[in-house]
Amino acid sequence: MPLFLLDRDGVVVVNRKDNIKRPAGLELIAGAAEGIARLTDAGISVAICTNQPEVARGVMSREELDAAHEALAGMLAAKGARIGRILPCICDRKTPRMKPAAGMLREALAGYDASAADTPFVGDQLDDLKAAFHAGCPRVLVRTGLGRKALERGLPQYLQPVAVYDDLAAAVDAHLGNHAGGGGIPPTP
Ligand SMILES: [Mg+2]
Repeated sequence: MPLFLLDRDGVVVVNRKDNIKRPAGLELIAGAAEGIARLTDAGISVAICTNQPEVARGVMSREELDAAHEALAGMLAAKGARIGRILPCICDRKTPRMKPAAGMLREALAGYDASAADTPFVGDQLDDLKAAFHAGCPRVLVRTGLGRKALERGLPQYLQPVAVYDDLAAAVDAHLGNHAGGGGIPPTP
């Protein structure tokens, strides 16, 4: 199944210092809902893979996280944007599931019976690109969230090609252009 994978914070919703613990703290990045809606209209499933270590740290409960994700899905649905699964990794130490490892992305790919090579992962941090690399997904960095900082620090050569766009809306447009044979997100080598 065609699938598009997203990081949450800095890609779909605005980053907050306190890392968005409540539905009231969710603020959509401009154009993100409209971009996801274009994927929905194109028949492409969209899922989110997000590290949320605050749960293991006891800062928020799993129930609170699930409530925030339900609220997020509702905010997007109101704009015609359908989010399928929201997969969180709630560990607070490195695990094979937690980004920069590939486990969470692989789980999403398997859940949709999607091929990694055809499924871009859009993130705003180096760990997102690394997870995409390890999963075999095309790597996309957006300049929203922490993306601009990550670019300034420089991206390791092994992660290339990395497609860079101003925001999720632009990444979606490039991806949909791919389908029509236009230039867009480069495939994994
Ligand atoms: Mg992020």
